[in-house]
Amino acid sequence: MSAGAKAAAGTVLCLPGDGIGPEVVAEARRVADWIGANRGFRLTFTDGLVGGASVEAHGTPLTDATMQQAIDADAVLLGAVGGPRWDNLDFKAKPERGLLRLRKDMDLFANLRPATVFPALADASTLKHEVVAGLDILIVRELTGGVYFGEPRGITDIGNGQRRGVNTQVYTTAEIHRVGRVAFDIARKRGRRVCSVEKANVMESGLLWREEIIKLHAAEFKDVELSHMYADNCAMQLVRNPKQFDVIVTDNLFGDVLSDEASMLTGSLGMLPSASLGARQANGKMHALYEPIHGSAPDIAGKGVANPLATILSFAMLLRYSFDRSEDADLIERTVGAVLNAGVRTRDILQPGKRLVSTKDMGEAVLSELDRQARKSAPRQMAGA
Ligand code: NAD
Repeated sequence: MSAGAKAAAGTVLCLPGDGIGPEVVAEARRVADWIGANRGFRLTFTDGLVGGASVEAHGTPLTDATMQQAIDADAVLLGAVGGPRWDNLDFKAKPERGLLRLRKDMDLFANLRPATVFPALADASTLKHEVVAGLDILIVRELTGGVYFGEPRGITDIGNGQRRGVNTQVYTTAEIHRVGRVAFDIARKRGRRVCSVEKANVMESGLLWREEIIKLHAAEFKDVELSHMYADNCAMQLVRNPKQFDVIVTDNLFGDVLSDEASMLTGSLGMLPSASLGARQANGKMHALYEPIHGSAPDIAGKGVANPLATILSFAMLLRYSFDRSEDADLIERTVGAVLNAGVRTRDILQPGKRLVSTKDMGEAVLSELDRQARKSAPRQMAGA
């Protein structure tokens, strides 16, 4: 679909993966069916294998054919990969390699990690209620450059029983601009504030990052408020006063650390979605992968107790970023909030006095609440027709 246009249909490659992946993805698919039936937006899903499931079937964590399907689809929805069964495999054959190949071959350079605290779950955080209640921030992490990929790298023998380990932090103007553009674009649809995070005081790559973000802002995004922060200060501010932020944009290394820190502000792994986006191409298409941030949770796989909300919220991000269906995404997010307010809980987010439900029943509760919301808005739509 083209940029800015509201899609009426689309294709999604669904890769449930391993462990609880298939269980949580199944509930997101039921929400997708509901959106198709009630909101006039039908997605065509193709199912594929990734991770250990693909290793078992094909001897590789991702086949070339599935990789091509991912490239051809409008979006990819993934569950999780990995598990003890495949821990002893050769590095190249490990389930995680399937996920890494998807990210690399689709050139998914921008990783979006929202940290949202639903009011009903504010007490699940290790931080004080008033610090996190109502938190809604988004970290945009550069995902394909920086110190994890820079050359030279390696460990060398330097004699006398000594060794030297080297990694190189490298960023170019183009890499900084493309991830900056994603952050500014998203900020326009949120609170219109971007905080760019680096260590310009001690790193040349950080200084370049700051200078290029300033140039990009002046050229294209003057309507968005821009601030800058050193990464160490940002780590501190995230626990001191996280609500001061709207969108944070940062490099691969700092983003890795800061996004994990931000996710812990919410206190619930089973609630956190993510998106990884590529560049918008000339034909308007953008490669994108949506997945919960949690793993395959082998300890609870097959027991029907996993929390499907992170995957359902990842599906909401898919609607928002791949199909410009913000109203549908808002509806799903509002619905999840209402289900939590009603006291419905899977085991991981259970609190005293709340109702414990299974994975399927949580999905069911979301669908019932979607029905209720649709009934509530129907008379208004008719009145306006
Ligand atoms: P994990 O996220 O799978 O589990 C950590 C803890 O959180 C476990 O106790 C688990 O039961 C719980 N948990 C996670 N998701 C939950 C949910 N939706 N509902 C309820 N509880 C949930 O992390 P781990 O145990 O370190 O890793 C397990 C496997 O997952 C490993 O093979 C790891 O490599 C893989 N992994 C995959 C991804 C991914 O696919 N993106 C991410 C992280 C870990």
